[in-house]
Amino acid sequence: MDSLKTPAQTPTCPAARATDTRQPEAVRIRLQGGSPEPLQGDRLELSPQARAMLQASPQFPVHTPKIRLGDQGQEVLRLQADLIRWMPGWRGVLVEDGCYGPQTARALTFFKEVLGTGVDGRCLDANTERLLDEVHSGQFWIKNPDGRPRHRRQPEQEEPYQRALTTGHPLRGGLDGLSPDQVRRVAASQPDRFVRYRGFEARALTFKRFLALEKTVEREFPGHRVAITCTTGGKHVGTAHGEGRALDLVLERIRDGYRPDTHEFDSSHLEDLARKNGFETLNEYLHDSPWWTGPHLHAEAWPAP
Ligand SMILES: [Zn+2]
Repeated sequence: MDSLKTPAQTPTCPAARATDTRQPEAVRIRLQGGSPEPLQGDRLELSPQARAMLQASPQFPVHTPKIRLGDQGQEVLRLQADLIRWMPGWRGVLVEDGCYGPQTARALTFFKEVLGTGVDGRCLDANTERLLDEVHSGQFWIKNPDGRPRHRRQPEQEEPYQRALTTGHPLRGGLDGLSPDQVRRVAASQPDRFVRYRGFEARALTFKRFLALEKTVEREFPGHRVAITCTTGGKHVGTAHGEGRALDLVLERIRDGYRPDTHEFDSSHLEDLARKNGFETLNEYLHDSPWWTGPHLHAEAWPAP
């Protein structure tokens, strides 16, 4: 979800702690009958009555952050656990490490958007915290007309919620992706889930096989590394790329940088390694194809039959 907001350059948690780059939160307060008015949270001066009125209403969130981006500790751990309790699809993607990083901010942004308490997950405000307390205690679940328990949410929030439930979608986007360990962990339990790795989007299984291939390439082609040049992140429906199954790969020279005009290596050997690591291949170093886009190895990772 591209609308999810995290700062363009979000520091990693420990660094943020060390340098304390925390910025005042921009707060939008929608006053009845008026247009949204951007204000700086830490400089916000309200009368006690106005503050009490705003805090009493979930429609008028006031940021009184207890924790925010860059923090770490037990409070953050609890926030992460409650977000996963609310959205089980995030287990394995949102890491419970007690560090309030970009993924946590993105997850909280989505929680706020679905529950209508704001659009900025970079801090935990009092209204959102109250809802998370209900998630924690179990009060949050209400009964469907058919008697089944469900989360409290509006009809228009149903579709993004369901998508997040099955794909973890709000955590897919953004500048950062999963670490190799996270890729392997997600692939172990949900190989078909779309994840983001090195700026590319594909199924967890596809990247897991890439990681294995990468290791063997390091061994077999010293001085080179295999690099991903293309996936489509689920676009081009009807193709393996659109399915999140295909990667276009090139062998790069580590020292000289990539020179697309010289392929002084045996691309068939690269193809062999890809096959040994579970890819079906089309060697577009050697063969023309209707989709020929330059010399590369097209590799597809399908689940075992
Ligand atoms: Zn391709």
